[in-house]
Amino acid sequence: MEPCDKCAKLEGAPADFVREAGMTLVGIGQCSGVVAIEHYRCDDCGTLMIRQLAGDPTEQIWTAIAIARKVC
Ligand SMILES: [Zn+2]
Repeated sequence: MEPCDKCAKLEGAPADFVREAGMTLVGIGQCSGVVAIEHYRCDDCGTLMIRQLAGDPTEQIWTAIAIARKVC
């Protein structure tokens, strides 16, 4: 399945861009007690996205990492 339009738009967007709805937070990664990465799954197309919140400002973006297949 291809990423939906919303995910395609989110790919590469700044991390401070917040998608309104339809994304489920599925995990977080912490660095020194601070949330550095959030993982989201799109409710529409199943794309897994990471939102990087730490590190170099140019790396603080949304990135699509995989398309999850629905198993049920
Ligand atoms: Zn999507």
